[in-house]
Amino acid sequence: MSDTMSKLSTDNYKHEAGSRWSQNSASVYIASTDKTIVKAYQTALANWNATGSFTFNIISDKASADIIAKDYSDANSQAAGLAETETNAVTNRMSHVDVKLNRYYLLDASYGYSFDRIVHTAEHELGHAIGLDHDDKETSVMASSGSYNGIQTVDITAVKKLYAN
Ligand SMILES: [Zn+2]
Repeated sequence: MSDTMSKLSTDNYKHEAGSRWSQNSASVYIASTDKTIVKAYQTALANWNATGSFTFNIISDKASADIIAKDYSDANSQAAGLAETETNAVTNRMSHVDVKLNRYYLLDASYGYSFDRIVHTAEHELGHAIGLDHDDKETSVMASSGSYNGIQTVDITAVKKLYAN
């Protein structure tokens, strides 16, 4: 376990090929009350919106939100975040996603997460929330471990391709 810091995976995401929202926009309710986590989500959402590939609308009504952005604390998961996706099995369209950032690792200075890496973790989980799978072949925000990369051109291209029709 001594290499937890370097080997910590972003998450253990199970991807369904082609799963996405019916259009390239979704509403988000930020349910975290931790200041750093909230700021990281707000920054990550703004960064995704700035790409023009997908639009997140932050709303104040939790009950009507497509995506709920939460935090949790789990020392046993070996994951810095999670995305739990509900998808209609017939249409392969997403109906609800919970994204979660793991306070246990992200907010403990001994694990070495800078604010930028917390933002990258949020961008990664939001990437899952709009249908992206892991990408370890090139520099990508969807790398399966480390959270060292922000949103890259390859990620924007992947979203545009997923929502092309
Ligand atoms: Zn992931």
